[in-house]
Amino acid sequence: MQNKFDVLIIGAGPAGIFTALELNKMNNNLKILIVDKGRTIEKRTCPERTQGYCSKCSVCGITSGWSGAGAFSDGKLSLSPEVGGRITDYMSQEEAQELINYADQYYLNFGARDVVFGLNNQRVEDIAYEASKHAIQLIACPVRHLGTEHAYTVLKGMHDFLTSKLHIEFWELTKAEELIVENGKVKGAIVSRKGERLEITATYVVVAPGRGGAEWLKQQTDKLEINTENNEVDIGVRVEVPNSIMDHLTKDLYEAKLVYYSDTFDNKVRSFCMNPGGVVSGEQYDGDVAVVNGHSYADPQLKTQNTNFALLVSTRFTEPFNQPIEYGKYVARLANMLTGGGIMVQRLGDLLKGRRTDYDRLKKSTTIPTLKSAVPGDLSYVLPERYLTSITETLRAFDKIAPGLYSRNTLLYGVEVKFYSSKVKVNNNFETQIQNLYTIGDGAGITRGLMQASVTGIVVARDILNIG
Ligand SMILES: Cc1cc2nc3c(=O)[nH]c(=O)nc-3n(C[C@H](O)[C@H](O)[C@H](O)COP(=O)(O)OP(=O)(O)OC[C@H]3O[C@@H](n4cnc5c(N)ncnc54)[C@H](O)[C@@H]3O)c2cc1C
Repeated sequence: MQNKFDVLIIGAGPAGIFTALELNKMNNNLKILIVDKGRTIEKRTCPERTQGYCSKCSVCGITSGWSGAGAFSDGKLSLSPEVGGRITDYMSQEEAQELINYADQYYLNFGARDVVFGLNNQRVEDIAYEASKHAIQLIACPVRHLGTEHAYTVLKGMHDFLTSKLHIEFWELTKAEELIVENGKVKGAIVSRKGERLEITATYVVVAPGRGGAEWLKQQTDKLEINTENNEVDIGVRVEVPNSIMDHLTKDLYEAKLVYYSDTFDNKVRSFCMNPGGVVSGEQYDGDVAVVNGHSYADPQLKTQNTNFALLVSTRFTEPFNQPIEYGKYVARLANMLTGGGIMVQRLGDLLKGRRTDYDRLKKSTTIPTLKSAVPGDLSYVLPERYLTSITETLRAFDKIAPGLYSRNTLLYGVEVKFYSSKVKVNNNFETQIQNLYTIGDGAGITRGLMQASVTGIVVARDILNIG
């Protein structure tokens, strides 16, 4: 087997895929290897989705494999640089917008639906105006919604296109174990594949391991003495309510990105990843931490009666704190410990009364949970008081623009954690202080969504090819 490549890409999520797409478009002679610890897209499965229970796979079918966390995502492409990451720390607003439009064109070329929500719409301004009366900020962002089923076909199309090229290889079930660096320059990586350890030599290495690989990347950067800095730690819950409560917002915006500073602690709380008519889902990290997420299908037949969204409290911890990922996992593990390993659900009314939701109380809920495997419990044993207070105060505030949200039947699933909290120090082309070693996407703490992750891949490809 040939183990020598021009470019090695670690992680086949949107960041890795777009690196390969752009490299291929600009120069189709480079020998490229993409490795992922998960499976190729059509072999990815999740017992939670098919049979309603999570079997704690060591490599999670939801977050790992071709398409990364994007395969079964909601496929909301945020078309504004304001949303989904921090690329504007590395380029101007105009450059970021240009790259987003460019990446969007790739998605369209591979079959994305030509429907954009929240664009040039008077209703969006009206909602922002109404929200401002209650100290709520609406972050306006046009969104192209692929829907879970279309996200899958678009990303599969990219797989079939790239792997049909003779100069591009994709190795599934291949985990990068260690980066190889000599004299300040990257040389490749050690990977494990089919029980063997192999040395891959490459002139350029692009590390795009997503949130699931963020901890591994942090170990590598520590070992190589590459600087990292703390991002915000985002911890919270997933909220689920009937569509009737959110429809007037989601009809025009698709996703209402709202920000509120909590009354007691003045903490930033934001809504994130809104899924009208969607389902709440679980995901596993390293087979031992279950966290909650959500998505929705574009097909009206597959829509549910509920809307779900994340409500996250953002905190930036300062020195000497340097374990943001561990902190998030620790909180998530508390919820898992109380549920026997799964996701916890609680009615807001029970939380406010200081009592556990049990199966009998859950049965009385007029909001019917879409994550059937969630175990009723008490989030006050899991989330620090500061988080819970900030979350309930925010729900009370949001109720003013979405009446019914602060209802006893609102469901809260715990916990939602975003593992992008350690940001690797890179230059404006996402190259680390090690020559020819790039880190991009969510795992490097630079992005938080499909679109910006894709953009980071394009920037790296152009830098490798020296195209400014
Ligand atoms: C249920 C769900 C819904 C979502 N909905 C949306 C949405 O609607 N809109 C949006 O913008 N974002 C959404 N997201 C987030 C979005 O999917 C991510 O932001 C995006 O996929 C990040 O891209 P990435 O390439 O950086 O990382 P990922 O997509 O996470 O890909 C990283 C890949 O690297 C692999 N990997 C990790 N470590 C290693 C290693 N050591 N060796 C080899 N391979 C490794 C992983 O297996 C994974 O396949 C959603 C996520 C989930 C889970």
